[in-house]
Amino acid sequence: MVVAEAGGAPELTRLPVPTPGPGEVTVDVVACGAGLTLEMARTGALGGGFPRVLGHEFSGHVREVGEGVSNWRPGDRVTASFYLTCGDCHWCRHGRETLCTAFGGFVGAAIDGAFAEVIRVPARNLVAVPEQVELADAGIVADALATPLHVMNQRLSTRAGDWVAVIGAGGGLGVHTVAVARTVGARVAAVESNADKRKALTELGLADLVLDGSDWPIACAAVIDCVGNTETLAESMRALAPGGTLVVLGVRGTDRLTIPAIDLILGELTVTGTRYASRNEIAQALDLVAAGRIHPIVGARFPLVELPAVFELVRSGQAFGRIVVDVAHRSAG
Ligand SMILES: [Zn+2]
Repeated sequence: MVVAEAGGAPELTRLPVPTPGPGEVTVDVVACGAGLTLEMARTGALGGGFPRVLGHEFSGHVREVGEGVSNWRPGDRVTASFYLTCGDCHWCRHGRETLCTAFGGFVGAAIDGAFAEVIRVPARNLVAVPEQVELADAGIVADALATPLHVMNQRLSTRAGDWVAVIGAGGGLGVHTVAVARTVGARVAAVESNADKRKALTELGLADLVLDGSDWPIACAAVIDCVGNTETLAESMRALAPGGTLVVLGVRGTDRLTIPAIDLILGELTVTGTRYASRNEIAQALDLVAAGRIHPIVGARFPLVELPAVFELVRSGQAFGRIVVDVAHRSAG
């Protein structure tokens, strides 16, 4: 499914099957997740060029390995990081590869992505999928689950019993952030403006509180803002307890966070961003799923040919949880 130009819709197109170059692999794609990052790729906001196959949170079986690739073989069950990193700079060598100083862009933006039967990526990006994890779910583990795991590992030092609020808790990242926060023993307030999503969050039963954001009965040790607009950022700051931390996980356009600096001093508050996850954290997220400690929350599944409808659903903001596109299952031949 190729997007011909920035802002265009994906169209079914016949392309030559890619073959791996040195240090690369090709993967027969089983499934690929769809979230708001995809919309940024479609409009060109993630860089790269067009025409382009989008799709970055994928899973599948290794198809072919290129010259010099010795640690993967055809048939291996895999997912991947969607950051094209150098593997050699200070950040790459210290497990914070998403800060790579020689960053090469994103899978599904700088190079063709996974809304195709075969994808070609650097072998370095692959992460093995344990037998206990369904390949249909593994792609969303690599983004929607690994990203909040990075928050808990690297950006917060949450203690058991702390209140953690998740803003935009009904979205694909939000609902998985609620799930991951629970695994560290936090008490979780799921904040969601959409009434249908609040109902779904209540039914899911992972959060201790489900709020609409108009009222904060608690002060929070941490607020993780998955929406990141001017209103939610201001609201997040007000919800912090003394010593609290705001983590900006999502962002909308060029919205700004404006706060009185004196509040930072008087409350010893911390404001930080968070950026995706390392391959090591993707592997950890897969292990949590394999151990049954977290379950990927899939809102809907679509065949690849229905990708235009998936894009519309993502844009509408109405989808609960993560959307999965079944690439291997082609209902329209
Ligand atoms: Zn690097």
